[in-house]
Amino acid sequence: MPYETAKMFCVECGAEGPTYQGLCARDFLKKHPVVAPPEVLDIERCTSCGSFRLKSGWSKVDRELALTGLLRETIPKMAPWERITFTHVAREEDANNLSLTVKALGRFEDLQSVQDFRVRVRIKPSLCDSCQKQRGRYFEGTLQVRGDGRELTPGEMRGVRTFVIARVDRAGDPGAFVSRIEEVHGGLDFYLSTNALGKALARELSESFGGSVSSSPKLFGQKQGREVYRVTSLVRLGPFHIGDVVRYKDSLAEVTSVRPFVILRDLASGESRRFKPKDVRSAKRVDAERFVAKIEHLESGQIVAVHPESEEARPVRPPPKGRTAHAVVVWTHDGAYLSLLPAETSKP
Ligand SMILES: [Zn+2]
Ligand SMILES: [Zn+2]
Repeated sequence: MPYETAKMFCVECGAEGPTYQGLCARDFLKKHPVVAPPEVLDIERCTSCGSFRLKSGWSKVDRELALTGLLRETIPKMAPWERITFTHVAREEDANNLSLTVKALGRFEDLQSVQDFRVRVRIKPSLCDSCQKQRGRYFEGTLQVRGDGRELTPGEMRGVRTFVIARVDRAGDPGAFVSRIEEVHGGLDFYLSTNALGKALARELSESFGGSVSSSPKLFGQKQGREVYRVTSLVRLGPFHIGDVVRYKDSLAEVTSVRPFVILRDLASGESRRFKPKDVRSAKRVDAERFVAKIEHLESGQIVAVHPESEEARPVRPPPKGRTAHAVVVWTHDGAYLSLLPAETSKP
């Protein structure tokens, strides 16, 4: 049987003529977008040297080139388009936000398609590897954080680290940075880009965590005829935290404040007294739990607190006023006391 040359026609609209995967050029273009653009693209820029981070790594190119690279690397391309290229016009909304109007040109056989779209580009301040390394070696000020006559607890170590890093990040000053953090002698050493940063952090830490501050400058050398000092700022965190239960002299007390004075609230009497931190150094921490307990008024007139897990009942001191059904109590190995603090007061 002889072949009959089939007439080519579009399966969509029936038009005769050349087809692309069974469609006329018009329907093919309609059916196949060139790219699937996202709404937002992020790119990191080194705040120190201006490099941009592309898939290939950090590269010292100008912004236009970086944006072209970003589009090429990150905009999802749709089959069957090939050799897709991008051109764009960038409009600055602010220093770190751009609005890009983009044309994506795709090719398939003898067809070309241009797709227009907009995308927001967010420039993320960052630090490239080489700038990070340079900074890692440099420091001027040192901040030492220690416990007052004791080692820092793991909770304090974490808390202090987080506090310092968050504070430096929030300031967003490229000249103020942490070069290195070391754990030493039950404390932490921070190596900082400036002496001023060390002093400021020491003050803020002592205010938040309760403690004393001192600093000692040491002549380091000369720079352009000027004497350069390295200042070591030292914070000693106080012996207690809010919520600690301590035995001081003859009484059992909970710590309700650590600065500027230590306030000890006697658990048996409910009376508070304030002290200079150095005057209560001899107080000893006592193991205790703090939780919301059920309060029961017994027929004998006695008022007891019930441990939420063991259900052990103990007389509670001082007796709660009124007919309260629940109260926050401090539970030691041999007693139960009303607390003035919320149940979730952190224990170190
Ligand atoms: Zn058609
Ligand atoms: Zn850099």
